[in-house]
Formats: sequence, C-alpha cells, structure tokens
Amino acid sequence: MATKFHGHLCAGQIIGVRIAMLGLRELGIHDRRGKDGKKFMVFMEVSRCAADAIMTVTGCRVGKRSFKLVDTGKIAATFVHMENFRGLRIIAANDVEEKIAIRYPGVDEKEAQKSAYREMSDRELFTVQEVSVTIKPEDIPGTPAHKVSCALCGETILDRRDIDHNGTILCRPCATGAVYYTAKSTKREPIQEGLFL
Ligand SMILES: [Zn+2]
Ligand SMILES: [Zn+2]
Repeated sequence: MATKFHGHLCAGQIIGVRIAMLGLRELGIHDRRGKDGKKFMVFMEVSRCAADAIMTVTGCRVGKRSFKLVDTGKIAATFVHMENFRGLRIIAANDVEEKIAIRYPGVDEKEAQKSAYREMSDRELFTVQEVSVTIKPEDIPGTPAHKVSCALCGETILDRRDIDHNGTILCRPCATGAVYYTAKSTKREPIQEGLFL
C-alpha cells in the first residue's frame, strides 16, 4: 500500500514503514484507522521517500494538518499524542550505515539497505527520544483559526501566518522579502480554455 502511494518500493519506503510502526506502537496508538485516527500528529524531518511511507501507514496528511514537514534533512520523525502531548522522536541510528556494511558485505548498497530495513531490529536501526512539542492552536487540525488580507499584496492569509508590522497586517513575503519565487510577470487572469468538470 505504501508503494501504491509512492510509486516504487525503495529502501526509504521500508524505513518509513518501520519508523511509523515503531512510533505508533511506542505512543500506544493501536487503532490508527479508527478511534485513534485523530489522536496524534507526525512531524517529519526529511522530504524524501520515507515521508510518503509514514503518511501511508499513519493516515496523517498535510491537508488534514496532522502531518508537518520540518525539513532538517534527517531521517527522523516525531509522533505526538494530542491528548497528553507526549512526543516520541524516532531517528535512524547514527551508526546504521556501518552496521549495514558489516552485516551485508559486498552487497549493492541499495539492496543491502532494503534487506537491512526488513531484517534488522528496531534497536539496531533506531534511536528513540522522549520529547515535548509545543503545537500552536493555529497549527492543529480543524477549521482555520484566523483569516486576514495582506495590506500590500491583498492576498488572503490563513492560520496566523501574517505579520503585524507596526499595526499593518502583512503576509510574510511582503514583510520580510523572503519569497521562494521570482515574479516574471504581473498578475493576470488565467487563459480561458473551457470548463473541465
Ligand atoms: Zn522512494
Ligand atoms: Zn503580501
């Protein structure tokens, strides 16, 4: 099922499945598709294959606001229980690559990883850390807590991502100049090509 969502079976998928199963088990989430489905959130630390697998196994989704990407570039994920805010951070063990090299000598790296993530124990593969996570009201699942318009660009901003600049409400790009894109044109209407319903 993880492969269906992600498109191929890779080592990252397998380690993601393992991380998700370990996180849910340690957090005491047994019925993730039923009554426990809304009881936890995931903070994922890498935007790679493992992230898709963790979404599939946990049912947490970006759009449901139960899956947050905090891209530190580490194979790590934190599982947070929404009733007691207990948090468990699962991270790939620092020496996991050495362990795999010793256990699967002469095997192609990718194949060795796939075997390792299927066969090695959680203790060999992962480190677990108790953490607490402060989750702001505007970041939890539910209807948008807050909705304003930017005084400069006029665009609507949800969930308190706006900045109060001496009493003027601005979006983050207008306030800070930090924009992920470079504008190549002024805004215009879409080219009308008919309705696709
Ligand atoms: Zn992959
Ligand atoms: Zn703006």
